[in-house]
Amino acid sequence: MKIAVYPGSFDPVTNGHIDVLERALELFDRVIITVARNAAKHTLFSEDQRVALLRESVAKYDGNVEVDAFDGLIVEYARAHGAVALLRGLRAVSDFEYEFQMALMNRKLAVDVETVFLMPSERYTYLNSSIIRELARLRTDVSEFVPAHVARALAEKFA
Ligand code: ADP
Repeated sequence: MKIAVYPGSFDPVTNGHIDVLERALELFDRVIITVARNAAKHTLFSEDQRVALLRESVAKYDGNVEVDAFDGLIVEYARAHGAVALLRGLRAVSDFEYEFQMALMNRKLAVDVETVFLMPSERYTYLNSSIIRELARLRTDVSEFVPAHVARALAEKFA
């Protein structure tokens, strides 16, 4: 059984995240999406809210997707969960340098955990959670970019 761990802030989950997840499910038997606790980083949604929004987004994938939260070293988390890969989305050149650095450092820490990058549909290459938060803050309809329950949660936040 091939397991991948998909770490991120998911503040909140967008259709771009889901696109990457669906591609990963073609390659892996199981994907564990794990929300970074990272107390130092200010997030719009709490850890519990980010987890709940993700759980609702992935309910349709049966038991193949699990949603969790983590702090500490992601490679340790991956090993503890029997994962062979860390999954990341790669949208544009701008993502590359940071992701390259992280992937090489994680390889240094754990040679047995490979980082796998998947490209979303070009429809989502310009999409990220911070743009979505900003649009929602300006009371703009974001239902084209996020699952319906996420759009509702954003509208409530800024009501
Ligand atoms: P982080 O703070 O770890 O970057 P994010 O939630 O922003 O957390 O992103 C988690 C992962 O999902 C990253 O690999 C990021 O590149 C990827 N990702 C974010 N938005 C998109 C998108 N629109 N399409 C594809 N991948 C995405």
